[in-house]
Amino acid sequence: MSATIPAANHRTSISAKGSLMLPEDTPVQAQNPHENALELLAIAARHLQLDPGIHEILKHAERELTVNFPVKMDNGTMKTFTGYRVQHNIARGPSKGGLRFSLGATIEEVRALAMLMTWKCAIVNIPFGGSKGGVLCDPKQLSVGELERLTRRYTSEIGILIGPDTDIPAPDMGTNAQTMAWVMDTYSMSKGRTVPAVVTGKPVSVGGSEGRNDATGRGIVFVTREALREYGKRLADARVAVQGFGNVGGATARIFHEMGARVVAVSDAGGGLYNPNGLDIPALLECANRDGTLTTHTGGKPISSAELLELDVDVLVPAAIENQITGDNAHRIKAPIVVEGANGPTTPEADRILRDNGVFLVPDVLANAGGVVVSYFEWVQDLQFFFWQEEEVNAKMEAIMVHAYRDVRQTARREDVDMRLAAYIIGVSRVAEAATIRGIYP
Ligand code: GLU
Repeated sequence: MSATIPAANHRTSISAKGSLMLPEDTPVQAQNPHENALELLAIAARHLQLDPGIHEILKHAERELTVNFPVKMDNGTMKTFTGYRVQHNIARGPSKGGLRFSLGATIEEVRALAMLMTWKCAIVNIPFGGSKGGVLCDPKQLSVGELERLTRRYTSEIGILIGPDTDIPAPDMGTNAQTMAWVMDTYSMSKGRTVPAVVTGKPVSVGGSEGRNDATGRGIVFVTREALREYGKRLADARVAVQGFGNVGGATARIFHEMGARVVAVSDAGGGLYNPNGLDIPALLECANRDGTLTTHTGGKPISSAELLELDVDVLVPAAIENQITGDNAHRIKAPIVVEGANGPTTPEADRILRDNGVFLVPDVLANAGGVVVSYFEWVQDLQFFFWQEEEVNAKMEAIMVHAYRDVRQTARREDVDMRLAAYIIGVSRVAEAATIRGIYP
């Protein structure tokens, strides 16, 4: 079996000297996600010769709120949960970013992801700063009633920060459109009127946008199509592996399939399936809906999620959780193109290995920005109480994603850097410019 895209030694034309990689001797495993985020910012700042005062501002989140709050459990007991809302920067507009329910949602992780949102919004040039929220919990262990009470109490606790013109949450790991409906309702009850624009990723029936559910996946497919074009390939010629079959991975696999690519492998938390002739993605989605996992399907050879990463495919999309491509497995990645669907799926050490091996990587801050782009459209529609058709939403998102991809690619070529550093150069410089032009209050 051989890749239909040129192998590593033919790929050097789109590899680059400069990158966001850490120096060779940096003990990256010891770093926490926020330290990694700071390191990436420092490298971009150095490249941009950023004013040290501005760099210092950007290192810190502007506001961080920790909340400890009780929830009545179904068995009559009370349990106290810890949650966070972090606003990294608002120089370019109100802060925007997801809310995750996860046992990994520590303050370091939420802080790092808030910073990532600042760059992401700036890279696709939408008028938002960056934020993130999290509640330390395992949503799979909570009943629907417990999840609703937890969401409502957390919303009420962070009510002093969020609002349609201050900070707008959205779904992320462990949350979905229903969660956003509860956030919207709780906030609206406190105001005595319906405020749909306080949150995005809501169901369409309460002010959500057509196309928002699929937006992250659709955006990933658009940037993959652009990356393939550089190799003279079309989506229809590509064999793709997608790690993750949730909100992002499931939609990504389906849209690849609809647009003619051959999706040869997918996986969820229970494991994966591989079929070199292509998987029947609609049947797999049906199976996952019915059984809660795709692994009960018989349309392919069972593989582990880790094995999926190392398959000989044209495009690999890690769209599950962070830290999947690490120093341990990066040298075994055979895909010439990696498109980051999840936030932070590649460790800094792995990033360096992939780059040295000539792998072309489209970074998370660009690749998965389709979600926040359509969140922006949802917010605009909510503020105007005027709603668009799905075709219009998709076409406007495609235009923004393709434009952002080309911007980043052009910067990568001009500065002779890889795509991650190029994206950071654009994101950090736009935020720095806004901060500089606004000046320092008072
Ligand atoms: N949680 C998503 C992200 O990380 C979407 C954020 C949003 O739509 O505000 O990009």
